[in-house]
Amino acid sequence: MSDWNKLIPKPSSSFVRVKCSKCGNEQLVFSNAVNKVTCNVCGETLATPTGGKAKINGDIQAVFE
Ligand SMILES: [Zn+2]
Repeated sequence: MSDWNKLIPKPSSSFVRVKCSKCGNEQLVFSNAVNKVTCNVCGETLATPTGGKAKINGDIQAVFE
């Protein structure tokens, strides 16, 4: 989860498929999310807004631009 930004040098926003580290649920998260994103299944925090790219807390499975 530490270097996924390096794979996306463009500043444009995108969606990432994040796998919840707690329950394994996968869901789409907006990479520039301005609100905290939680898992639809267990409520674990999946993304935390930072003002720019959201901090992704789960495992990135795929990126959609
Ligand atoms: Zn979960």
